[in-house]
Amino acid sequence: MERPTRHVPVVSEADIVRAVEAARANQGRVRALGARGSKNGSHRTSGVALHLERYCRLLSVEENLVTVQAGMTCGDLNAALERRGLALPTMGEWKQATVAGALLTGTHGGSSRHGILSTSLRRLRLVAGDGQARELEKGDPWFPHVGVSLGALGVVSTVTFECVEQFRLALETKVVSFERYLSEYERQNRENEFYSAIWLPAADSVITYSANRTAAAGGSARRGERFSFMTLLLTALARYWNIKRLVSDGRFRRLAIGASGDILTPLAIAPGLANAVWQVARTVRATEFAVPAERATGTVMELDALLRRHPRSLANAIGLRATAPDDFSLSPCHQRECFWLDMFFYDRPPFVGPLRELFERLGARCHWGKHLALSAAHLRRQYPRWDGFVEACAQLDPGGVFANDFTERCGLVSRPAGRGPVLQHR
Ligand SMILES: Cc1cc2nc3c(=O)[nH]c(=O)nc-3n(C[C@H](O)[C@H](O)[C@H](O)COP(=O)(O)OP(=O)(O)OC[C@H]3O[C@@H](n4cnc5c(N)ncnc54)[C@H](O)[C@@H]3O)c2cc1C
Repeated sequence: MERPTRHVPVVSEADIVRAVEAARANQGRVRALGARGSKNGSHRTSGVALHLERYCRLLSVEENLVTVQAGMTCGDLNAALERRGLALPTMGEWKQATVAGALLTGTHGGSSRHGILSTSLRRLRLVAGDGQARELEKGDPWFPHVGVSLGALGVVSTVTFECVEQFRLALETKVVSFERYLSEYERQNRENEFYSAIWLPAADSVITYSANRTAAAGGSARRGERFSFMTLLLTALARYWNIKRLVSDGRFRRLAIGASGDILTPLAIAPGLANAVWQVARTVRATEFAVPAERATGTVMELDALLRRHPRSLANAIGLRATAPDDFSLSPCHQRECFWLDMFFYDRPPFVGPLRELFERLGARCHWGKHLALSAAHLRRQYPRWDGFVEACAQLDPGGVFANDFTERCGLVSRPAGRGPVLQHR
């Protein structure tokens, strides 16, 4: 596994520039680290690791344009926006992800009316492989490549979001049967501004979360987390007992009302604890597949049939949600609305082969912050602008300063001469 040769705390953009210039001069490497929540090693480096925990201030608010340093967490961003009567239209569920890490991995929420987090990006400052800081705006030719770029094009220094007026949400949680979820999915997804779910295949049940704007002030701001100790326990119990009676509407029904940030981003688990859990659960893979939205119900039915043949393959429930299309070259929602299936499974035969075959046949893409369960060759075919991204990488990082095992395995970088061959994984 790649290990950094040096750890450098960042407190100003000059620290980033210095680290990149030194790496360039010595044919070394650099990676910015966020909260290290991604589960595929994309943040690893064999060179200098830049720590942005202290590079996390709010820099400016000009009407609805808010600029922050790249290491700010999504939870702190939500809180800062709320104090100013602003909000982001949508968010991922984890408070501790950094804004840069979340943007660059294509982090998303659950709404087919809103895109991934990067669709709120208006401008960013990028320290590219030549050590120069560039300001890239929406409309700039690099912009569609940089918005979801896994740190391969440079270190993001500051980020400007286009915000909306603050809003409150009423979120209703309930349990429906698997059949009812399938028959209602399209209507519910259309009628609710935010709509996501947790599917417990062993209980033939789905816990649904529908959220819409409200002027109501009351209610509890605390919403239940979709993936929780309870869903973990139920999945474990399902190996030995029939859990259908345990997943009842009475047990899970709830109404939570609160600021959009609190409702959309409820998960507060500390990065250290999240990583410790992953160290213990080494055989479990966390993957999120993105299939074209029109295949949503068909995909769930096919996956259900596969899981019936392999009933002990899951380590947790399955998350379901949708996101609107966008134009970022490596966004899983590139030019198509996506239906996401968030899975935690044991990485062992005979399940993983058929799982990969199923999702490759369905034309799936993968969340870039989670385990990539699909082959690099398949992924490359899913992105019409993949080669354009690799070309951008060659121009912005000609010396391969930001390359690492992950970008090489995926074929996301064109390696400079003298650094060995590009590895293509299956
Ligand atoms: C508990 C939990 C809940 C989650 N919930 C969701 C969810 O609801 N929706 C969703 O879509 N995803 C979700 N994810 C995935 C998550 O949002 C991201 O994959 C990840 O956490 C990104 O943020 P990070 O700060 O951890 O970045 P890291 O994992 O540290 O880094 C991600 C990548 O970005 C690069 N990077 C980081 N900062 C910079 C920078 N300043 N400049 C250049 N490159 C940089 C890194 O090198 C790496 O390649 C969740 C993850 C966890 C652990």
